[in-house]
Amino acid sequence: MRNIVLFGPPGAGKGTQSALLVDHFDFVHLSTGDIFRANIKGETELGQLAKSFLDKGQLVPDDVTIRMLEDAVNAHANGNGFIFDGFPRTTAQAEALDAFLSEKGQSIHGMLALEVPEDELRIRLAKRAETSGRVDDADPTVIQKRIDVYNAETAPVADHYKEQGKYSGIEGLGSIEDIFGRLKSAIEGLG
Ligand code: AMP
Repeated sequence: MRNIVLFGPPGAGKGTQSALLVDHFDFVHLSTGDIFRANIKGETELGQLAKSFLDKGQLVPDDVTIRMLEDAVNAHANGNGFIFDGFPRTTAQAEALDAFLSEKGQSIHGMLALEVPEDELRIRLAKRAETSGRVDDADPTVIQKRIDVYNAETAPVADHYKEQGKYSGIEGLGSIEDIFGRLKSAIEGLG
């Protein structure tokens, strides 16, 4: 069993690669962005709270996000491990995840960080807007806000895993298959 954090800026390909990794390794995929969007669509209380943050490209507050993630972990059998996509996005979330998994006798085995230059992210997100139906992909100001939030609040999360010797940078440019091949080898290398 391996628990993986798939890391990277918005538009790095985390969702696309998660789907392939789930097929190959039979992970349980937990995307906090997907869970928020499902709650917004279902007009739940959580969705109402989260909507304004997603629409503006801001992070949903840590306490809400951490509780939601823990509920999602508890709701799934974790046979082959979890792939965390879009979480943790702050150092506080990373610390909370470590503590929560440790209570269950578990841990994160590795963070795989997709590395993609900012110009390419903007191109990919604008393209994704044509099909995703995501409000936060459609507005260049919101795209820039998400990239800025990533640089200021999320990028430091890599240090948390570097300090634990669990960080692997993965080239996020090239074909989907090539990038998948790099991720697959990195996961197999985790033992
Ligand atoms: P994503 O689908 O990962 O791009 O996330 C879309 C949006 O959901 C983000 O811009 C945030 O508003 C919110 N979100 C997703 N994951 C988190 C998280 N771990 N912490 C706070 N907000 C999040």
